[in-house]
Amino acid sequence: MKKVVKFGGSSLASAEQFQKVGDIIRADDSRRYVVPSAPGKRHSGDTKVTDMLYRCYELAENGQAFNKQLNQIKDRYNEIIHGLKLDMTLNDEFETIKKKFTAKAGSMYAASRGEYLNGKIMAKYLGFDFIDAANVIRFDKEGNLDTDTTNRLLAERLNVSEHAVIPGFYGSMANGTVVTFSRGGSDITGSLVARAVRANLYENWTDVSGFLVADPRIIRDSAVIHTITYMELRELAYMGASVLHEDAIFPVRQAGIPINIRNTNAPEDDGTLIVASTCRIPTFTITGIAGKKGFVAVNIEKDMMNSEIGFCRKVLAAFEESGISIEHMPSGIDTMTVFVHQDEFAEKEQQVIADIRSATHPDSIELESDLALIAVVGRGMKSTRGTAGRLFSALAHAHINVKMIDQGSSELNIIIGVKNEDFEDAIRAIYDIFVVAQL
Ligand code: ASP
Repeated sequence: MKKVVKFGGSSLASAEQFQKVGDIIRADDSRRYVVPSAPGKRHSGDTKVTDMLYRCYELAENGQAFNKQLNQIKDRYNEIIHGLKLDMTLNDEFETIKKKFTAKAGSMYAASRGEYLNGKIMAKYLGFDFIDAANVIRFDKEGNLDTDTTNRLLAERLNVSEHAVIPGFYGSMANGTVVTFSRGGSDITGSLVARAVRANLYENWTDVSGFLVADPRIIRDSAVIHTITYMELRELAYMGASVLHEDAIFPVRQAGIPINIRNTNAPEDDGTLIVASTCRIPTFTITGIAGKKGFVAVNIEKDMMNSEIGFCRKVLAAFEESGISIEHMPSGIDTMTVFVHQDEFAEKEQQVIADIRSATHPDSIELESDLALIAVVGRGMKSTRGTAGRLFSALAHAHINVKMIDQGSSELNIIIGVKNEDFEDAIRAIYDIFVVAQL
């Protein structure tokens, strides 16, 4: 058994959190490869070290004094080192960082030091090898991840390490220039490491006990999803549910390695298991609910639209030419509706409408703004009768007017459109009928 364990910033924000992490790793011999984030917030008003680094580097870049800010960062690490009673100092590292900042080594280099330094401490604390991600995570000249080279470098290097710490979030180009992933990117590093060592499991430790069925800001004490498939996760993540970086899924998904989301502050909880496929019966008919506000529906009407070949293409081309991505497209016999993001569309609406008019000569074009889309996702829906019936009667009981319905052909999701102002009530009604009623 081989496990890769990634710990997020809040799991490593203080010496106390490091101790919890140490206990988790020592409790299971198969937790051999550790990917740490930079120290996150210790409490709600705190600042993440990554953000401190970005700010500090900004000063350096503008030729302003940055010593005070760099020392504050050093204090954060020293607090951890002293709290763990480790016999080490980061003085040399901070000297190098200071020189590199003065030489304007770039904001990516700056941000990457958060993980790099935390990795040094973690390796010392655990007695594991330290592997600089700059030597094993490779980016091409355009700054895109070079997946094959990374996989090879990681596999070669980790093959000769029984236990190692590989800092998350960054790597380098062949010429040594440090490159970071987008924010939250340590999740991706963990996934790449898991694939390279052919891990049995990729454990992603954070500060929640897994994915929740619904947004906790809307549903207090939402139930946790025990098992979710990659496909379901994609649907929910696309609609705004977030715990894991989106790009972290692909490497392990390809290799068929499950991801387990766990809570560092409640290691006794099973968390959420993300798998390619499963025969586990879902706890509820639905797996999760997610949604977003701020859509516009563009309704296009034309008599005999249905028999006009190329009509849809012409309409879609008008959006494409303005660089607007389309979210959903329900259609009737002589009507077609296109859902787009309101903020993207607002700037270009007159151009798009003019283009649709000249390309298709419709009878009318109407816009309806301030709409929300809600995705009800679940592999269990396929084999259960009456899901849609229950869903819509629940919404009717809650006096919610459904503006649009779209069921994906995979029967994995039902998307509904409602008014922005009904968004929260709709989610509560759906949660009540599928989760509360089934508890
Ligand atoms: N420390 C980085 C961030 O705050 C990367 C990570 O935590 O995954 O975004």
